[in-house]
Amino acid sequence: MKINHNFLNLKDSYLFATVGAKTAAYKKAHPDRDIIRLSIGDVTRPLAPVVIEAMHRAVDDMAKRETFKGYAPDQTCYGYDALLDSLLGSYAQKGVLLEKGDIFISDGAKSDCGNILDILSTENVVLVPDPVYPVYLDTNIMAGRKILFADANEGNGFLPMPDDRVKADIIYLCSPNNPTGAAYTKEQLKEWVAYAKRQDAIILYDAAYEYFVTDDTLARSIYQVEGAKECAIEICSYSKTAGFTGVRCGYTVVPKELTRDGVSLNRLWARRQSTKFNGTSYITQMGAAAVFTEEGERQISESIDYYRANAKIIADVLDSLGIWYTGGKNSPYIWMKCPNGMDSWSFFDTLLEQANVVGTPGCGFGKNGEGYFRLTAFNTHENTAEAMRRMAELLKK
Ligand code: PLP
Repeated sequence: MKINHNFLNLKDSYLFATVGAKTAAYKKAHPDRDIIRLSIGDVTRPLAPVVIEAMHRAVDDMAKRETFKGYAPDQTCYGYDALLDSLLGSYAQKGVLLEKGDIFISDGAKSDCGNILDILSTENVVLVPDPVYPVYLDTNIMAGRKILFADANEGNGFLPMPDDRVKADIIYLCSPNNPTGAAYTKEQLKEWVAYAKRQDAIILYDAAYEYFVTDDTLARSIYQVEGAKECAIEICSYSKTAGFTGVRCGYTVVPKELTRDGVSLNRLWARRQSTKFNGTSYITQMGAAAVFTEEGERQISESIDYYRANAKIIADVLDSLGIWYTGGKNSPYIWMKCPNGMDSWSFFDTLLEQANVVGTPGCGFGKNGEGYFRLTAFNTHENTAEAMRRMAELLKK
């Protein structure tokens, strides 16, 4: 018996563990200090009332013989009609026409970011932006694929563009991006779609933060670009849209138009799912179905607006200090340049010790993250304002 030796090529992720350990050690040494975390990568506001009500109704359905639900009705896409219909409606509002069979309900974006690789050969070369959400890199290391990096930096606004000299088969794009908050315009995505088609590659497009986009020139779905259905899979989530991080629901779009080697990827994914997955619970799906109703959208927008206001508090202070950053406007993340040429961990230590504010060092998301720092909008208005007041005071010294 042999283990999968590719796992030994993974780098241990010390980022959040070290952030936690340093913060705890500081707190222990200074128990009286009020530490504010602008490092939170999880939502903090409760589920919308429409979602809670829909889930309560679904629980009641499970209590009666006539309405009880067992396995999902469709053993490939695993979606109940109410949820699939609401997703089709939501895509139509973005000008994207999909069919029911194109959408697969999942338990969130993270699992499908990794699982989708089952249907793609390990011989493929992968192109991953640097810095980025670490799951794309690690899942491909586990599978032993060759990985290339697309450099994101200040010069390109942390939005790398295609380069025809780079030959890749699988391209990851994440927009709005975690950790940089930068988001591609539809025009920029057109270039990626054209590149993918020239290379006969496919794009794995992570749209987990699409609901934060307000600017019309920015994409909310890669399918807003013509021709993307022939070269892109979109992975999406209710986590950041509707606070489902602890409930778990997402969806992956594999359009019927997407074929490679003369084979439909939709068919392969359906086969993979029916073998290795058994659906997302009925109660969860009914909650999710309430999200893209008129009242649901009104209620979830209140929470997103709350986070947006925090992002603006952060961005306004950085503007006043003349600090370079991306994100904050169409994203809950703000990616700031560390002041005075500091490296990410030095700035982390200074901010923790002198302002009692915690953020996330950018170097933990890839080599190009060195010298940058991620702040998030998931705290309260009061804490965010106080943290930024302290940061401004520190940096003005
Ligand atoms: N994709 C990105 C870019 C993320 O930042 C996250 C979570 O932080 C996820 C996917 C995971 O989402 P989910 O909760 O749906 O698994």
